[in-house]
Amino acid sequence: MLILDCPNCGARNTQEFRYGGEYNPRPAEPDAADDAAWSSYLYMRHNRLGLQKEWWYHRAGCGLWFLAERDTGSDKVSRTYFWSREQIP
Ligand SMILES: [Zn+2]
Repeated sequence: MLILDCPNCGARNTQEFRYGGEYNPRPAEPDAADDAAWSSYLYMRHNRLGLQKEWWYHRAGCGLWFLAERDTGSDKVSRTYFWSREQIP
C-alpha cells in the first residue's frame, strides 16, 4: 500500500488522492504574456525523469489541492505542502 501525506489530514492511502499533473505556474504577468507563453503554460509538459513538483487532490478526504515533490523514477514522494503565492516565479 502506498501512502501519501495530505498537508491537512496526514498520511493516507494513495487511493484517496487524484494526480493533478505537473506544477506549471501561470505567467507572472498574465496581461503581458504572449501566445507562446500561454501555450507553454496550458499545453507543454516536461515529463522529466527524477524529482518533479506535482499537483495532488485529496478527493476522498478534505478536498485540498496541494503540491508534492515526487521522484518519477522511484515513485517516492519526498515532501508535500500547501501551495502559496510565494511559489510564483
Ligand atoms: Zn486531506
